[in-house]
Amino acid sequence: MPEKRAPSTSYALFLAALWRWLNVLWWYFPRVLAEATYPEVRPKDVGIPLKVREEDVGDADLPEEGQGVFDYIVVGGGTSGCVIASRLSESPDVRVLLLERGPVSDTFLSRVPLISTNFARANSPNYRWLPRAQENMKVDDSHADMAMVSGKVLGGTSRINSMLYTRGAGEWEAMARAGRKGWSFAEVYPYFLKSERALGAMSSRPGHGLSGKWQTRAYGHYLLPSYNPCVSAAQLVGLPYIKDLNSPVRAPFGVGDVDVSIDARGQRCSTYHAFLPAELAAARKNRLKVCTETLARRLVFSHGEKGPRAVGVVIEDEDEERAREMGRFVVRARREIILCGGAVGSPQLLQLSGIGPREVLEEKGVRVVKHLPGVGEHLQDHFGAAVQYLTPLTHSFHALEHTFFALRDILRYILFATGIFLAPIVQVSIFTESSLISSKDGTCTAYKVANASALDPDNVPDVEIMPIPAGLQVPPPPGEGGLSFLTVLATPFSKGSVRLASTDPRERPICDLGFLSDPRDWAVISKGLKLSLAIAAQMRKSGYALRDHCVLPMNAGEDEVKRFVKRQGRTTYHYSSTCRMALEEGDVDGPGVVDDELRVHGVDGLRVADASIFPKILSVHLQAPVVMVGEKCADMIKRSWGEVEE
Ligand SMILES: Cc1cc2nc3c(=O)[nH]c(=O)nc-3n(C[C@H](O)[C@H](O)[C@H](O)COP(=O)(O)OP(=O)(O)OC[C@H]3O[C@@H](n4cnc5c(N)ncnc54)[C@H](O)[C@@H]3O)c2cc1C
Repeated sequence: MPEKRAPSTSYALFLAALWRWLNVLWWYFPRVLAEATYPEVRPKDVGIPLKVREEDVGDADLPEEGQGVFDYIVVGGGTSGCVIASRLSESPDVRVLLLERGPVSDTFLSRVPLISTNFARANSPNYRWLPRAQENMKVDDSHADMAMVSGKVLGGTSRINSMLYTRGAGEWEAMARAGRKGWSFAEVYPYFLKSERALGAMSSRPGHGLSGKWQTRAYGHYLLPSYNPCVSAAQLVGLPYIKDLNSPVRAPFGVGDVDVSIDARGQRCSTYHAFLPAELAAARKNRLKVCTETLARRLVFSHGEKGPRAVGVVIEDEDEERAREMGRFVVRARREIILCGGAVGSPQLLQLSGIGPREVLEEKGVRVVKHLPGVGEHLQDHFGAAVQYLTPLTHSFHALEHTFFALRDILRYILFATGIFLAPIVQVSIFTESSLISSKDGTCTAYKVANASALDPDNVPDVEIMPIPAGLQVPPPPGEGGLSFLTVLATPFSKGSVRLASTDPRERPICDLGFLSDPRDWAVISKGLKLSLAIAAQMRKSGYALRDHCVLPMNAGEDEVKRFVKRQGRTTYHYSSTCRMALEEGDVDGPGVVDDELRVHGVDGLRVADASIFPKILSVHLQAPVVMVGEKCADMIKRSWGEVEE
């Protein structure tokens, strides 16, 4: 017999649903109208027509006054670009132009956390392309699918990512030790706090910002049943439970819940939503031009005694037909141009503009403006491989493949802002150091370093394991659920590169991810996988019904591990470090592209501020650090132009 609800409970549920609906209506409809009137503009509205060949354009071809002239031009309205454009346009006396290749595309589905994370769905605003196949990752004459993905929309990758909010600590201290001025944890921490508005239980945790624009939260409960046994098992194999994985005090060696950038209404909080919503863009429309569906083709330079200075950008409509019809345009930056095109887009634009390794530019016939060997080199990502198990269907995201569960849960989400659609695909994570993992049985002695300081660069984890309630690489059979342990190199040694494929800015550059090209990474991934196997074995021992799906034996030999890793290896989409903040020459890890103020070496008026500037990949997920970089860069720019009192 179904349980009968007391009338008061039903009434309370009815009121809750009504309240939620009123909220949805109150929130949604003004925004639908707002999107229709988002004050976006196109190249013809902000530039002047280009009258010479794009290769020949110089200072003299740019406008002096009026249309086409701005103080700052931000190229790329992605995760950091939205932050920078928003902060720079706070001052009523400056004119800011933001150039973004993608659309605004603010639909209801694009805000539902789980749906918007599914970048494979139709109309998800992203680029997807294949990197160069790596010989060292070949198995049985073929390569695993490593498709690369990044956002192409206002808000960039923060519109499609998994919304995990992680900051790192020891990584920043390592930068300070390497000589980067202004980048110690104590110096970057205020910028993390500045952007953040922690909600609910998270707001009472020490160390979180409460009055910023970017909403973050913690759930306090798990949205799928496989998480609880997984967290218990992790503790039983030696990983202490960490209350705050972002704590700057205690190193995150253990298992803990991950904070997310989801707002109070249960919707994705991207940097577009937080920093450039329609109301703000409308209020500033005279001094901030948000130019969407616009491709920045190359930079324009003036050449003086001090060397080249970036003074303008050649732009055109992203749509090829419209671009042919309307032609190209140029815009001038009186003060600075800030590149925020991401770890692939920024080095590509620099190389197209003649800034990069001489041999790469000359091979493609690009005139060299500044030989800067670091541009596009040192591409890093958190390489991962997953062991996978089968679970009951309703314990995993695969339940949503069934109409009944999908409908039930979308209703739960719409009515009560609860249920699986609210979920980021990762709710729990495990960080550790591979040296603490036993190569015999995969158990971990992380509990022995429970009080290790997070700020010590030696305590930066080199392994992360994300339990994901889905079959990540190999889908489970119909009617079954899945649980994958995505095991990731948090501080990989391997690196690759981004190099022009051609001088056509629409063609994706050749990306060599360089995965596992440094032999030191093999030992780490192999230890990480053992820890994943040990957690799964412990879950089973504790009575949870996991069944093998795509796994390795604990005692697998080196060759077997290698074959498995090559087959199951994948990108985690954390592209980084292609315009490194380091000395132009003489840095032990390779040549740098930008200085400590993010200015491009040897070129005036040009900064880079996105995921490409990290000297090496951080051991955490990158969006919060990228937002911090945006905040700090905007502040440095304002200071250098006297907009902020020292
Ligand atoms: C699927 C996925 C899941 C992820 N999950 C997480 C997560 O859960 N947590 C986390 O911390 N990190 C995550 N990341 C990584 C993180 O989101 C990114 O590292 C970060 O958002 C990158 O920010 P960015 O500003 O460097 O670049 P982006 O946000 O990618 O912005 C670059 C923007 O520049 C535009 N652009 C590029 N070239 C041009 C041009 N020539 N002209 C005009 N516009 C141009 C692009 O269209 C884009 O909008 C994820 C990434 C992906 C792809």
